[in-house]
Amino acid sequence: MSTCIFCKIIEGEIPCSKVYEDVDVFAFLDIKPVNPGHVLVIPKKHYESIHDTPNDIFAKMSVVAKKIATSVQDNLGAKGVNIGMNNGKTAGQVVFHAHIHVMPRYGKDSFQLWIGEESKTDERTKIAKALQKALK
Ligand code: AMP
Ligand code: ZN
Repeated sequence: MSTCIFCKIIEGEIPCSKVYEDVDVFAFLDIKPVNPGHVLVIPKKHYESIHDTPNDIFAKMSVVAKKIATSVQDNLGAKGVNIGMNNGKTAGQVVFHAHIHVMPRYGKDSFQLWIGEESKTDERTKIAKALQKALK
């Protein structure tokens, strides 16, 4: 038996407000939404985060997240939508079953975007080179 809360939701052991389901992907309303219509898109199989989620499954999750993003605008009257994914404790991940947040925006809410720090050109060049090398 699974100890993961999202696996329990998929297995029907814990109730949820289901929004979408296919062979690989499941989506349901977040119990503590940023706004009404805040949806979590998850793989049906247990993966901890983006890092161990296979590319094809992540691609399918992304397509579902996109469809839901369009749907909250078309059907719930959202004026914008943020898509997010917390990976790792440091990034704010609390449930360690990979999930994409689809968060509708209506105007006034408590949602906070990040505040960027100034950076230096040589610093950015160094970082970009390191990433380019790793991504080759
Ligand atoms: P994260 O910080 O990215 O791991 O977010 C986990 C999210 O899961 C939070 O937004 C929670 O409100 C949500 N959550 C936790 N338990 C449940 C549940 N039983 N049903 C729906 N959403 C949940
Ligand atoms: Zn799980």
